[in-house]
Amino acid sequence: QIQRALRSLSVPLERLHVMKGHMMEDMCKGLSRQTHMQAKVRMLPTYICSTPNGTEKGSFLVVELCQNQVRTLLVTLYGDGNMSPHMMYKIFDLPDSIRQGEGEALFDFIAHCVSQFLAETISSDPSRSEEHLPLGFVFPFTCRQTQLDKAELLSWSKGFSCSGVVGKDVVQLLQSAINKQEVGANGTGGHWLSPFKGWKSSQFASGQFCKVDVVALMNDTVGTMMTCSMEGRPCEVAIVADKGSNCCFMAEAYLVETTEETSGRMCVNTEWGCFGDDGILNDIFTPYDARVDEESSNPGEKRFEKMVGTLYLGEIVRHALIALTAEKAIFTGTSIAVLKEKGVFTMQHVLDVVNNEDGITEVRRILEALGLQPSERDCGRVQQICRAVVGRAATLHATGLAAILSYMCQTREMETLMVSVGVEGELYTGYPRFEEILLSVSRLLSPECIATFLPSRDGSGRGAAMVTAVALRLAAQRREVDEVLAPLRLSLADLGKVQALMREEMERGLGKATNASASVRMLPTYVSHTPDGTERGNFLALDLGGTNFRVLVVRIAEEGISMSSEIYVIPVAIMQGTGEGLFDHIIDCIIDFQLKQNLVTHTLPLGFTFSFPCQQVGLDKALLLTWTKGFSASGCVGQDVVQLLRDAAQRKQHLGMEVVALVNDTVGTMMACGYDDPKCEIGLIVGTGTNACYMEEMRNVGTVEGDEGRMCINMEWGAFGDNGCLDHIFTHFDRVVDETTINPGKQRFEKLISGMYLGEIVRQILMVMTEKQLLFQGRPSPKLQTKNIFQTKFLSTIELSNGLALRQIRAILNELELDASFEDSVLMREVCQTVSLRAAQLCAAGLAAVVEKMRENRGLDQLSVSVGVDGTLYKLHPRFSTNLQKTLKDLAPNCNVSFLLSEDGSGKGAALVAAVANRAANAMQ
Ligand code: ADP
Ligand code: MG
Repeated sequence: QIQRALRSLSVPLERLHVMKGHMMEDMCKGLSRQTHMQAKVRMLPTYICSTPNGTEKGSFLVVELCQNQVRTLLVTLYGDGNMSPHMMYKIFDLPDSIRQGEGEALFDFIAHCVSQFLAETISSDPSRSEEHLPLGFVFPFTCRQTQLDKAELLSWSKGFSCSGVVGKDVVQLLQSAINKQEVGANGTGGHWLSPFKGWKSSQFASGQFCKVDVVALMNDTVGTMMTCSMEGRPCEVAIVADKGSNCCFMAEAYLVETTEETSGRMCVNTEWGCFGDDGILNDIFTPYDARVDEESSNPGEKRFEKMVGTLYLGEIVRHALIALTAEKAIFTGTSIAVLKEKGVFTMQHVLDVVNNEDGITEVRRILEALGLQPSERDCGRVQQICRAVVGRAATLHATGLAAILSYMCQTREMETLMVSVGVEGELYTGYPRFEEILLSVSRLLSPECIATFLPSRDGSGRGAAMVTAVALRLAAQRREVDEVLAPLRLSLADLGKVQALMREEMERGLGKATNASASVRMLPTYVSHTPDGTERGNFLALDLGGTNFRVLVVRIAEEGISMSSEIYVIPVAIMQGTGEGLFDHIIDCIIDFQLKQNLVTHTLPLGFTFSFPCQQVGLDKALLLTWTKGFSASGCVGQDVVQLLRDAAQRKQHLGMEVVALVNDTVGTMMACGYDDPKCEIGLIVGTGTNACYMEEMRNVGTVEGDEGRMCINMEWGAFGDNGCLDHIFTHFDRVVDETTINPGKQRFEKLISGMYLGEIVRQILMVMTEKQLLFQGRPSPKLQTKNIFQTKFLSTIELSNGLALRQIRAILNELELDASFEDSVLMREVCQTVSLRAAQLCAAGLAAVVEKMRENRGLDQLSVSVGVDGTLYKLHPRFSTNLQKTLKDLAPNCNVSFLLSEDGSGKGAALVAAVANRAANAMQ
């Protein structure tokens, strides 16, 4: 019988595995918006989103409501890594009558304790008597929290049942009670708390009162976690193995669907005591557990807690002994009447029996003191039962912990999780093997997780002060972050204004008289038709002005378009050397390409995608206005680029090609997409730079003769704002980035939007935030000072990480030699999002001006149009296109705009321009 009893109290490993799985399922259920109401493991959000980082400083008051006490604590932090906080305690006994009395009396009592404590601490230090003291309230009952300082009591437990509190905000109740303690000195009003009611008024000069604000409420488990967080490494899990049992941990905030918080992490109070209330633990529930449950004040509830909480372990042993005696397995022939009384076998008895390693003398002494007459064998068996009960409690704690650890590891997408676990409570401190079991069993169940256990030295009070301190630090930080980012955040009205300005600049650029003074050049391209699909032939194409220089052959046939291409490198020395050198190099590349492709027998028509601003005077005549994007070859500006290329061909005596058309990459992109979609009448580039083109009515193009038909206009919108019209939206960061480019003051719009600059803007913001101690604890990274070290593709990576920031961002941070905390990476993501959102929105404002103008040109109520888009930023950034399209809808609601991605657009497009020109020429003949 003894063996059977012991077996029933030991849960096999396979069963623990199953239980771990159930716990994880219940955790997910508790976090999900749809199912959380049914979940037994409540997974209550705590609104604590950060662990201490050591910079916290100031004085913080804590009041902790315990079973029989109210503990008050004043903690002073020095911003020194929290190594040596200064602490003052006072503990007040809580009269029994209050636990079951009126709610108001309870809170008045707590407020009175606070007031008395302050009288003794603050009055001994008059210099601090005018401080505003933030207070953290440790309230170890189940609450539905909706903010850090807003928590509705769901139910009392642990012998409390004060009236009129369930369903109310306990923070508000405490704050009101504290306010009531006020003595209105000189009519100050407000909630000034007298240091001590009843002290002789002469002891307080007028105004010597302390303002107390309840800023945070938390569970004791959370307090423990935060207490343990002070030792350098953040502690992200806490277990309280005491009268009751509970656990909390830092969850990815986006998984906590019951809150709006989506970035970073939030501490979740699991309330795992209720695990099993749906019957899932019934098969391991022993008859002794069932008896304990029946005799409790809440039968059927908190099944897990009743197997592991120290309030119950003595009771489980007592019922096991009663049952075994009835079965005549122990205490044969002696009376065990004393065991009939609930609570006689206390947790202390259990621990004394369990921890007594040498012989049974001590066990006998304990049992005899209880009034039993054990035989030697009885003593041994009682000890076995006690060990089984306590061992099971430790094992089940370990199983719950394993579920938490595996869940954390999975949701953080980590292969291994290293984490610190704060532990507290009577079972932990009283049972030396507890930690050992916690470690070994959780290792067996979650081998992918490595937990380090930290004892909580000062209980939850110090942690509560930390929570309060962190809350204030974060609130202050949030204000500063918002201040830094505010200029980068544009309202719809701001964007509407940008749209209107763009429209104005477009008109000026189109007007013959005003063109010279417009920042948006609105260059005619001499492309007047988009493709109609009947174009045919083989064409050469060049693509210069992007990241790569490419030579292509484009074969346009009935079956469709096929292409081959080759990428050639243009060394910086050539980009920034002489014009002759540059164009000679280009011809060399073409010759090489034609040889490789066996294209030497014919003279092929060539379309040239040249992505720099040109004043075009014909399809094959284009004067370079200025270099951009890092090019600066001499002797080219003001020259006809087509002629420069032809001259180079002549120098090299290359006859295999004939330059037919020069196009901008925006035009190429529009044409390439236009081959498949006739509605495509806009081209957009968001890559290294940004630019757009669209089909404008000839009658509006003042800079070209003729009023019939349309012509594609290369807007060169990158230069929008170069005349100062956008000065009001430029931020400090934009100005710094602009000043460090090779063309300061130029391409101002582009510098807010395109790939060449976004990383730099982010880098400037990160540097300022580091300076302001908002990032990396203020430690500057020498690497971060390096220009262009923060690449625009980093924005894509960082913004893609959904709550999993650390893992994804780590590689980038390593590259930058940055030591970033989790919060740092969350803030970095916010910076990236702000910068890329602004870029997409500004781009949308520009496009809105274009589509609205086209709609008006055509006298339509509703315009349907497509935009051909190219550029790696647009294509690869996870949100750019969505943000752009959404903003465009807001700004131009009467336009129905679709977006087409151009594949190999600029090369194909150049060939198509040549082909369309061919077709038109053939049609003329
Ligand atoms: P170009 O505009 O020169 O023809 P691309 O369209 O390829 O060339 O754009 C290159 C730009 O795209 C670079 O400036 C780079 O910053 C940016 N970029 C590259 N990869 C990414 C990415 N994954 N996410 C966002 N931007 C990127
Ligand atoms: Mg390109």
